[in-house]
Amino acid sequence: MRFTRLRLNGFKSFVDPTDLVIAEGLTGVVGPNGCGKSNLLEALRWVMGENRPTAMRGGGMEDVIFAGAATRPARNHAEVSLVIDNQDRLAPAGFNDSDLLEITRRITRDVGSAYKVGPKDVRARDVQMLFADAATGSTSPALVRQGQISELINAKPKNRRRILEDAAGIAGLYQRRHEAELK
Ligand code: ATP
Ligand code: MG
Repeated sequence: MRFTRLRLNGFKSFVDPTDLVIAEGLTGVVGPNGCGKSNLLEALRWVMGENRPTAMRGGGMEDVIFAGAATRPARNHAEVSLVIDNQDRLAPAGFNDSDLLEITRRITRDVGSAYKVGPKDVRARDVQMLFADAATGSTSPALVRQGQISELINAKPKNRRRILEDAAGIAGLYQRRHEAELK
């Protein structure tokens, strides 16, 4: 599984449709302060099912929608798509019938978020589980926020274990057990 494209439309400062090709190997994003580097990483987390507005540096989830600028009106919705090359068929069960996986999340003001895998409507949980099982996702240790290294150093052992479990790809199992216990 490999991320190959990130498409944004109306997400934070990316008001115009933006199509980013993610090449093989290491990708660096450079640019002046405030140009949208962190917004890109947040878009990646968001499409993977992040539901904490604070993780998006916002007060509410609708803050990810382009809020308007001096010369441009605000938008009513935001959309992010992540395209994954799945030729190796390493996606979790249920998502393995095609070479390309396209996950889309769209948020509309006063309506909330809707998710798709390809053309098919899915639940937030389906997308979150897909990435949890693939040992990546919005809380993945592969995505390192500003300040996260010092958090890791200062973390209590229990929280540090969570990070290791995420890296090992067993976070999805805990979530399933928790849900089973609630039933
Ligand atoms: P730095 O180098 O300082 O870390 P950066 O490249 O990471 O900067 P970001 O934090 O990604 O920059 O982008 C910040 C910009 O995004 C700000 O100009 C902010 O106004 C804009 N922005 C954030 N949310 C929205 C929104 N909902 N609508 C419009 N613009 C937004
Ligand atoms: Mg930044």
